[in-house]
Amino acid sequence: MEEPKIGEVDDLTVLAKLDEKILLNELRVRYENDRIYTYVGDILVAINPFKKLNLYDKQYCTKYKLSKKGSLPPHIFAVADATYQNMLGYGGSLPRNQCILISGESGAGKTESTKLLIKQLIELCKGNTQLEQQILQVNPLLEAFGNAQTLMNDNSSRFGKYIQLKFKNGTVTGAKISEYLLEKSRVVQQNKGEENFHIFYYMFAGLSPEQKTNFGLDSNNVHRYVTTAQSSVKAKLASYQQDYEELVNAMDMVGFLEEEQENMFRILCGVLNTGDITFQQQDEDIINTNNKALSLTAECLGLDASEVLDTLTCSVAVTRGEVVKRNYTKSQAEDARDALAKAIYGRLFSWIINKVNSLLAPKDLSGQTETNEIGILDIFGFEHFEKNSFEQACINLANEQLQFFFNKHIFMLEQEEYKKEGVDWKEITFVDNQPLLDLFLGRPIGLLALLDEESQFPQGSGHSLVQKFNKNLAGNRYFLTAKNSHSNNFTISHYAGKVVYDSSGWLEKNRDTMPPGLMEMLQRSENSLLSVIFKGKLTRTGTLALQGRSRKSMKSRRSTGRTRPDAARLNKATKERKLTVGAQFKNSLQVLMERMTTSNPVFVRCIKPNNQKAPSCFDGPYVTAQLLYTGMLETINIRREGFAVRPTFQEFVDKYKILLVDSKAAGDRANCERILKKTGLQGWHVGKTKVFLKYHHLDALADQLQSV
Ligand code: ATP
Ligand code: MG
Repeated sequence: MEEPKIGEVDDLTVLAKLDEKILLNELRVRYENDRIYTYVGDILVAINPFKKLNLYDKQYCTKYKLSKKGSLPPHIFAVADATYQNMLGYGGSLPRNQCILISGESGAGKTESTKLLIKQLIELCKGNTQLEQQILQVNPLLEAFGNAQTLMNDNSSRFGKYIQLKFKNGTVTGAKISEYLLEKSRVVQQNKGEENFHIFYYMFAGLSPEQKTNFGLDSNNVHRYVTTAQSSVKAKLASYQQDYEELVNAMDMVGFLEEEQENMFRILCGVLNTGDITFQQQDEDIINTNNKALSLTAECLGLDASEVLDTLTCSVAVTRGEVVKRNYTKSQAEDARDALAKAIYGRLFSWIINKVNSLLAPKDLSGQTETNEIGILDIFGFEHFEKNSFEQACINLANEQLQFFFNKHIFMLEQEEYKKEGVDWKEITFVDNQPLLDLFLGRPIGLLALLDEESQFPQGSGHSLVQKFNKNLAGNRYFLTAKNSHSNNFTISHYAGKVVYDSSGWLEKNRDTMPPGLMEMLQRSENSLLSVIFKGKLTRTGTLALQGRSRKSMKSRRSTGRTRPDAARLNKATKERKLTVGAQFKNSLQVLMERMTTSNPVFVRCIKPNNQKAPSCFDGPYVTAQLLYTGMLETINIRREGFAVRPTFQEFVDKYKILLVDSKAAGDRANCERILKKTGLQGWHVGKTKVFLKYHHLDALADQLQSV
């Protein structure tokens, strides 16, 4: 047989010879020919083209419906199709619930892949329902609030999400989104060359002059929290306007009421005005030097201006019946101001997710009918900037966890099964990143546990934290202390490379507490939406649990007017011990892993071809690094040597007994062997309870069935 040309092979597991260079060349040639998708057995590798490819129109949607694997070039739509088939139960002994795990570093194409998958899944189950249209609008909606331009990606997800599509009899009946750790700090501060969340720019471009005046938005877009150069905002004005229109459309379609949208924009303008409040120290007091900003903030947020100023500039405590007032320093007041803005944005985002979930929830609430689901995980990709903080540590931990799950599934469980079933097997080794998970999650000595411990000390600082890390983790080979002992830096040797972290500000970010009094004040806001979102409680995974239905509570507020809070209840709420951000994140990752373990995992590996976001540019060393740290060579090996198809004896005999011309053949080992020997196929294995086959065996068996 003639050797296929470089770049002509759709599935890398069929390559006769394989090393780092060969692999890179195959992918390079494919990429240069706009073949961005390649299979490694059942895993899809996708290289970001950074340009529009004609690969996703109607014609492709139709072509990839019910396609037999291998009959068409690799494609993300084929993954959607296979997943859908498995969910319908055509996957034999595989679990019906599916989860698609999309990995890759920031800017590799995870979010785009997610959108394409959802588009095609909806296409496959098409009933032309309103629900389907709503689901398609969810991503643009969430991206407006949760994505931003970073140095690594112009549309970077600043939160992780798991979207579950629920199906009954093959049609979609609802959707649910779980969010992971929105990077709230971006609201008040962005690194050089980066932007705030998209929504703020859309608002400037899209709100009418009248709305802007109403909401106290500066018509020139001069607000401290949005530092992007005016010229670049102007240049993108038209596209932002379009984005704004699309967002409002999406919100209408998904079911956000006009009043809710209005309240939302008002709150967001309140956040921007909050940022413009400035302080000055005057003798013992802190005074506000921007009265206009203060009154606009109060107006947008439905609060009393003097109360806002009080809560931002001093704390009031009752000690032995006496009211003790303590003035903040200038920097404490600034922190309080930023904490207010972050808390509002974070809770508003959670409310949006909540709202989407309640609007898209399956209508059959009895729980009687069996539903199946396809989940899609789209997290924030691995990040390494010049300066990396707590957010990067959490993002990179999530990526470690995902890589671990991949390893566990692809290497550990599979090889364990071969051993258990007595398959003659030569062990394939891989780089196990368990030590990194231990470094982060270990107790009592792990980064998060140590961070929580230090967060309890009011006097703790970035420096005391790094000293604690150094003292406890110095022996760990994945943790490297800084040479300079005064530095707040430390380095972690992640599966995807070394990252230098700066521990400044970690304690505050981890505690994420609000200055006293703010919470109560916000709960009393005259902006009905703001009051609702602050009456909700945060669960142990950090999501917002609203009290009752938000719409109902908004209505009841309107009818009863402004009421004073139930002091005892509020007191209790503030006294309840709050979980740290690290602990919440750890919990939410755990819940996610449990969910993934009970589903059939499907892997999509996104690769970033260059670090310049440029089309037609394949940076060899950059791609090689990604192939190495994701364990691509080992993955190809195990997929080549391994057995992707593993029916039980009974399943196998049921399906192929016709080849024996024996309709009564029992589902046992002997009959499986009889069938396989009769087919003349090679390379299969009959284990203790299952038959072990490769994909090409399935195709050959299907051909033989047809000719019976
Ligand atoms: P992050 O972790 O930062 O969220 P990501 O992996 O989600 O990154 P995406 O936002 O999906 O990355 O992709 C980055 C950009 O790359 C997109 O905005 C788009 O311009 C381009 N891109 C990605 N996939 C494709 C594709 N299939 N076709 C065309 N362009 C693409
Ligand atoms: Mg993304």
